[in-house]
Amino acid sequence: MKCRTENKPTMRDMVNPVVTKNEKGRYSAKGTCTVCGGNMFKFMSAADGEAMMK
Ligand SMILES: [Zn+2]
Repeated sequence: MKCRTENKPTMRDMVNPVVTKNEKGRYSAKGTCTVCGGNMFKFMSAADGEAMMK
């Protein structure tokens, strides 16, 4: 994943983020990086995840 080696990815750099909650209750977001166009995956805090799912 290219994004890992770039500046720390933020939600702002993600296109069409899809937030999911896994079986352990952790939130994560998948999307496309606006910088390199690669896939982006990021774990989120519960608060951020709840906000994104609204
Ligand atoms: Zn990137």
